[in-house]
Amino acid sequence: TAAAQSISAVYDTVLRRNPGELEFHQAAKEVLDSLTPVVERHPEYLDAAILERICEPERQIIFRVPWVDDSGRVQLNRGFRVQYNSALGPYKGGLRFHPSVRLGTIKFLGFEQIFKNALTGLPIGGGKGGSDFDPKGKSDAEVMRFCQSFMMELHRHIGAETDVPAGDIGVGGREIGYLFGQYKRLHNRYESGVLTGKSPAWGGSLARTEATGYGTVIFAREMLATRNESFDRARVIVSGSGNVAIYAIEKVQQLGGNVVAVSDSSGYVYDPDGIDLDLLKQVKEVERGRISDYVSRRGGRAELRTNGRVWDVATEDGGIQVALPCATQNELDENDAAALIAGGCLAVAEGANMPCTPAAVTALQAAGVLFAPGKAANAGGVATSALEMQQNASRDTWTFDYTADRLEQIMINVHNQCKETAEVYGAAGNYVLGANIAGFVRVADAMLALGV
Ligand code: GLU
Repeated sequence: TAAAQSISAVYDTVLRRNPGELEFHQAAKEVLDSLTPVVERHPEYLDAAILERICEPERQIIFRVPWVDDSGRVQLNRGFRVQYNSALGPYKGGLRFHPSVRLGTIKFLGFEQIFKNALTGLPIGGGKGGSDFDPKGKSDAEVMRFCQSFMMELHRHIGAETDVPAGDIGVGGREIGYLFGQYKRLHNRYESGVLTGKSPAWGGSLARTEATGYGTVIFAREMLATRNESFDRARVIVSGSGNVAIYAIEKVQQLGGNVVAVSDSSGYVYDPDGIDLDLLKQVKEVERGRISDYVSRRGGRAELRTNGRVWDVATEDGGIQVALPCATQNELDENDAAALIAGGCLAVAEGANMPCTPAAVTALQAAGVLFAPGKAANAGGVATSALEMQQNASRDTWTFDYTADRLEQIMINVHNQCKETAEVYGAAGNYVLGANIAGFVRVADAMLALGV
């Protein structure tokens, strides 16, 4: 059809303008592939070149970040901020510090963020930033000096009404503190709303730390409920052991499920009696250690495995009901999907951004496994960031329970929007299509209204 042809022309333009940025190509294709039925019904989107415009960031900033390490040597990293789309509100999205970060990484994340943020229903545009800085093995003082140098340039590009960064991989409460301190020194203003993920002790929101993991499990719970299934006594695999994974585990356990595996970059733990969350938090959040430290102190039946894949657990000891990839992009491929299917997996919800490869998603959907894409399932983090912005703007602080209730309502709404949109477009149960279309339409209509 003409619509399909126009969409493939937009994709060709994306490839031409962004050579070599494979993750960005993957993210763009995944969204564009969902939009054929939308532009068939709404030719005005093509007339206004909305698809081409939505794929092109409004602004991309690349900067030099020099800093001095503990031995007095000068180190250099590259900093990025991609201000992708501001049709619905100030650019909003995290900062990722990881040695693998390139411009294309930030572009893929920023692109996903546009639709995720739209799905929350809150007034936030999409953006993302970060650096190829590797926090692993760095001292507190080195992390502080890096963050200060990073903010020395970033500060002129951000602001509560302009662009509001937060955390992502490698950026947690400690880094947000150092970044905010430097911003405050440079501006001589306590602009709480310029960053989110701040500590509740000085302007942050309660429940922000828990929000991404909790929200992912709430989304999965809603999805399971459409098939009269639940987390009660479910065996669950969670990949990763960072902020998203830890609070996903906490919520699964609250709902009566048994998380039997977690992972980090050194391997994975199989712990059939269920992850000891207090110990995992102590090792990961307090000591910044490895899961091997968890295993050596846990004892019992917990084992550390440095070969194979965390998803292999799916076919052991009677199978698995839910898988929550909460580590990083493209961490779950079609072979892993096959293991989950063989183990009887009912649902996969992405706590990370784009953790499942396109082939894995296709395989899961073909096998009838409920699949929640990250831009819907992990929207609770950024949604609670928007609640933090609300509290900052009104100089107020909300209770944990009030904030967590708002998060829960938002996640139920995100779930229902995805489900209902998929039904309207004749693809009941396809949460990928539902999320992409519902997110896109909200942004596209705002872009139309705001003119070229
Ligand atoms: N980095 C998170 C995400 O991928 C949160 C961003 C935010 O809170 O702004 O959505």
